Amino acid sequence: MQGLMMDDYPLTISAFVKRAELLFRDREVVSRRPDGSIVRTTLGPLLARSRRLAVALRSLGLQRGDRVATLAWNHEDHLVVYYGVPCSGLVTHTLNLRLHPDDLAYIATHASDRAIVVDEVLLPLLEKFRERTPIEHVIVMRTSDAPLPAYALDFEALLASAEPDGTEYPELDERAAAGMCYTSGTTGRPKGVVYSHRSNVLHAMTECMPNAIGLGERDTVLAVVPMFHANAWGLAFASALMGSKQVMPGPHLDAASLLELIRQERVTVIAGVPTIMLGLLAALDANPTAWDTSSLRLILIGGAAVPESLIRAFSTRYGVEILQGWGMTETSPLASVGSVPPSMDAATADEKFRYRAMQGRALPFVDIRARSEEGTLIAWDGVGMGELEVRGPWVVSSYFDSPDGAQQFTNDGWFRTGDIVSIHADGCIQIRDRSKDVIKSGGEWISSVALENALMGHPAVAEATVIAVPEPRWSERPLAVVVLRSGHSTTHAELVAFLEPQFPKWWMPDATEFVDAIPKTSAGKFLKSALRERFDRRLLDG
Ligand code: AMP
Repeated sequence: MQGLMMDDYPLTISAFVKRAELLFRDREVVSRRPDGSIVRTTLGPLLARSRRLAVALRSLGLQRGDRVATLAWNHEDHLVVYYGVPCSGLVTHTLNLRLHPDDLAYIATHASDRAIVVDEVLLPLLEKFRERTPIEHVIVMRTSDAPLPAYALDFEALLASAEPDGTEYPELDERAAAGMCYTSGTTGRPKGVVYSHRSNVLHAMTECMPNAIGLGERDTVLAVVPMFHANAWGLAFASALMGSKQVMPGPHLDAASLLELIRQERVTVIAGVPTIMLGLLAALDANPTAWDTSSLRLILIGGAAVPESLIRAFSTRYGVEILQGWGMTETSPLASVGSVPPSMDAATADEKFRYRAMQGRALPFVDIRARSEEGTLIAWDGVGMGELEVRGPWVVSSYFDSPDGAQQFTNDGWFRTGDIVSIHADGCIQIRDRSKDVIKSGGEWISSVALENALMGHPAVAEATVIAVPEPRWSERPLAVVVLRSGHSTTHAELVAFLEPQFPKWWMPDATEFVDAIPKTSAGKFLKSALRERFDRRLLDG
């Protein structure tokens, strides 16, 4: 017997966006401009602009499924795109503005982006790769009166020219693509993750549940996580779903600017990577009476492991709880959260801090298991270690047009995360290591392979590897480990000068260790774990 419910009702972003148009018209969206000034709007007019954008993009000839890239900071007009593009049957493809132009050229081409909506302040970056992509329409969100390049359209003028006629949001299949985000995997080029309407709806709904972030209409959310990173952690959609006020920092991610927003807008939930929150803590500690964080009820941190000391400091000194989330671009991203279960009510404060420093239990509909190197599933005993595998309705089922991505999936359809974990008896995940060797600095990947390949092109270098080492401010920074050719010499400064033209500045190794030999695995690969152990404290001890 089948259920007799309206199971065909599509779970689309437009369904809750239309509801927000009716119920949350007055909900505020507050953004900081590049010049530091504050712009205030509400969801009503903002979503009216999303409808105009839908008409405008159609008038440019874009059709269902076409990709519209964004290259932008977090602000209200980026939200206009975030809502308007998927609701009109197009696909938002957020480009990571911290990538090298060569990577951006590759990604925009691989995704077949037809249009791009770009911040005026990021036009110089776009200029470095636009001509190497299929992008036909460049739409600029302006923040100055400077003239636009001849090829570009003005976002404001485009919206003004588009008169909504009531047909701008079509009926959509819940499985249709809504958004796209590229991620740097273990091997090969960046890979595209394609979110569907359904995955976004289910992810946002679950994220809002009480045992997760518990987001509601009375919340004010400051997402410091960039909108180009991992689906903005679903927070743009979750906020529209629940009617939460949104506060957007623009390009101003320094602690003082964020603390000012928290105080002024009475932020209740702030979300970002550990680096950001370490910065906030340092600023607060330096001058505790200068700020007011009493409105905060939750700090959501993910993207990298959260130091226990950070959780402890915010809780004991400022009375704010940190909730750790684990996830990946491939998991929309939130897959587990570290909320403390009632079974720990009688535990000491120290035990609770330790628990919060783990990656928590999987959200409903996210199944987890971990597989040892021998290929067997590990017991949930908190001791055994294995690669975490996940599946669920907001987990990637395959990468976009990427034959070599198939190795990330098991034969029975689970996604292999590349994270090495233990799972405790209550289901709490504890990340032990990453099988990937990419370096995560301030929440953003640095490819060790790319750096070491480049280093090995230097005439004085025989062998080179680049490893992640702990560093207080950015969580991890690259450290180069170099074997010199006999009879040659060079310095760290010379090597950096050699790398600089090829990579973003923040990819530069913080230090170089010159060694006699790099340890290798039996397969002849660099044994990075041994080097990491050896140089673990290199940037901590100086
Ligand atoms: P990304 O796709 O850039 O968000 O990176 C995903 C990776 O970040 C995961 O595979 C983990 O290695 C790491 N990561 C995310 N959240 C956490 C966390 N709470 N603790 C430790 N590592 C994390």
